[in-house]
Amino acid sequence: MSQPRTAIVTGAARGIGAAVAKRLARDGFAVAVIDLNEASCADTVAAIEAEGGKALAVGADVSDSAQVEAAVTKVAEELGTPTVLVNNAGILRDNLLFKMTDDDWDLVMNVHLRGSFLMTRAVQKHQTEQKYGRIVNLSSTSALGNRGQANYATAKAGLQGFTKTLAIELGKFGVTANAIAPGFIETEMTAATAERMGVSFEDFKKGAASMIPVGRIGHPDDIAATASFLCSEEAGFVSGQVIYVAGGPKD
Ligand code: NAP
Repeated sequence: MSQPRTAIVTGAARGIGAAVAKRLARDGFAVAVIDLNEASCADTVAAIEAEGGKALAVGADVSDSAQVEAAVTKVAEELGTPTVLVNNAGILRDNLLFKMTDDDWDLVMNVHLRGSFLMTRAVQKHQTEQKYGRIVNLSSTSALGNRGQANYATAKAGLQGFTKTLAIELGKFGVTANAIAPGFIETEMTAATAERMGVSFEDFKKGAASMIPVGRIGHPDDIAATASFLCSEEAGFVSGQVIYVAGGPKD
């Protein structure tokens, strides 16, 4: 029997989230495009609809429990029972430890960790009722440690523990959980990092590519292709894994 095909992608207004949302729509999912501001989801929704797909823009801060509950209820009512969840929303507040503020720490923990927890807790109700589900969490190669990212590295490592625990708890309900840990991907996030470091984005990308075994930087579609597989029915025996998508080995 085929499963309900409604997917939720957070932080899907742009970057990796937008690419994942468009790819899942091409795979036949109705896609809820969640981002902080509903209006910012318009481009992703329009791109999906232009290809004949179905999408719904939903504004929600993933770190706010009430907004998450309301968003997931809206998706279930207006788009269909969500069985696929991609926790992608993310922010950076980079700084060396001695300069990192309480807010830098709390904001990053709240969006990545609390956000993924709240979204997953709300969606698993639907997945366990359906006895089917796919969860993909966006980790990062920074989980292995990265200068200036004590907050982000901790959150991305935490997401790996979260993913493995979800796999253990939810497996018997037909739900798999995996993490994708991207390396350098060309998005506004990496463009902002270049700007903060006072380097042109072109030079920053060239420098990154020179250190990557496959000789290029990554693109959002590289992550979307991996998410597509992990969200497919045929990936049902892959669970609790962290897949490094970084153009070379990382751990
Ligand atoms: P991006 O271009 O900055 O996009 C992130 C999206 O998340 C933005 O649309 C942002 O909305 C949204 N967002 C932020 N806080 C949110 C919240 N509280 N609730 C809902 N949405 C929120 O980033 P990206 O490069 O595509 O990265 C996507 C994910 O991959 C992140 O988890 C990131 O940590 C991870 N990642 C990226 C790379 C990379 O090289 N790019 C590498 C490893 C991992 P606003 O625009 O309104 O802020």
